[in-house]
Amino acid sequence: GETLLSIQDLTVTYRARGEDIAAVRGVDLELARGEKLGIAGESGSGKSTLALALLRLLPATATVTGRVVLAGEDVVDMTWGRLRAVRWAGASIVFQGAMHSLNPVHTIGRQIAEPIVLHERIDESGAALRVAQLLEDVGMPAARASAYPHELSGGQRQRVMIAMALACRPDLIIADEPTTALDVMVQAQILGLIDDLVAGSGISLLMISHDLSVLSDVCDRLAIMYAGRVVEVGPARDVHHQAKHPYSAALSAAFPTIGDPSSRLRPHGLAGDPPDPESLPTGCAFHPRCPSRREQCDVIDPRLWSVGDRHDAACVLVLPDQGASLAGHVQQP
Ligand code: ATP
Ligand code: MG
Repeated sequence: GETLLSIQDLTVTYRARGEDIAAVRGVDLELARGEKLGIAGESGSGKSTLALALLRLLPATATVTGRVVLAGEDVVDMTWGRLRAVRWAGASIVFQGAMHSLNPVHTIGRQIAEPIVLHERIDESGAALRVAQLLEDVGMPAARASAYPHELSGGQRQRVMIAMALACRPDLIIADEPTTALDVMVQAQILGLIDDLVAGSGISLLMISHDLSVLSDVCDRLAIMYAGRVVEVGPARDVHHQAKHPYSAALSAAFPTIGDPSSRLRPHGLAGDPPDPESLPTGCAFHPRCPSRREQCDVIDPRLWSVGDRHDAACVLVLPDQGASLAGHVQQP
């Protein structure tokens, strides 16, 4: 299909305590119109940083290089005025923990109406109608528009966030751990809701989670991040069940089913922790924990390499020559 979002060699570095923190390192990803892409990876792998970079919501301590092309426009060097419009009508974002994103002193109806009134020529009664429709779309009675955030359950608050994300009919919804703070039953309802709303609407979805099983249920394609890089990307089923990168395989083994309590733990069979982004290992950043490590892995940082139809992995094991001729595969530091 037509490409909606193209992320090209995106790098994000935070400056903190006099150190450079390489949070996202040379990510390339494409998302077609109507496609659902999941991004998985352990805590600290750069998922939220990537999401925030797409809408330039990063703090001033972050330096961004590369390109983020959304519907033909580069977000990275867009004017602020244009960016404001794009943030609602082009792409909108649903964060984890809706309690902190909603304003406690305004009704949810007013908060859902706000972006609509701001971006469209619409009067108050027109906006009220849209709010009522949006609430119904997310499975809430229209009368709840007069409720305040503290009067709602966690799941209802997350539904309100989704209604806000849908308010200006965006091309893309970015959902960063949209259900992590919710209990298992409500998680499943919210995921089902997102799935229904996106299906057939032509809206693209970029959904972030540390839970691979959730993502492979909802998404068409999956990208696995490790230490700021995409180490594998491809059709959701293939990445989940026939992972080509040892890290994706470990992550898949850790998340057998939706709602399994073990899915909140670190991947099974993986010793140690993810690397500190202030001092990354040489070569492949995963090599110190890799069960399939080869001798050359502390010097080679492999690029993504095709392992199937629209399926790429970045590991010496998948290189056609097993890393014998390395020149073309080594990433620039
Ligand atoms: P989680 O699953 O815990 O949400 P994540 O994959 O979303 O993790 P990020 O939040 O993108 O990871 O963080 C990537 C790296 O950047 C981490 O090492 C984190 O400590 C660091 N980082 C994130 N935000 C900042 C910031 N504002 N200043 C400095 N470092 C940051
Ligand atoms: Mg995050």
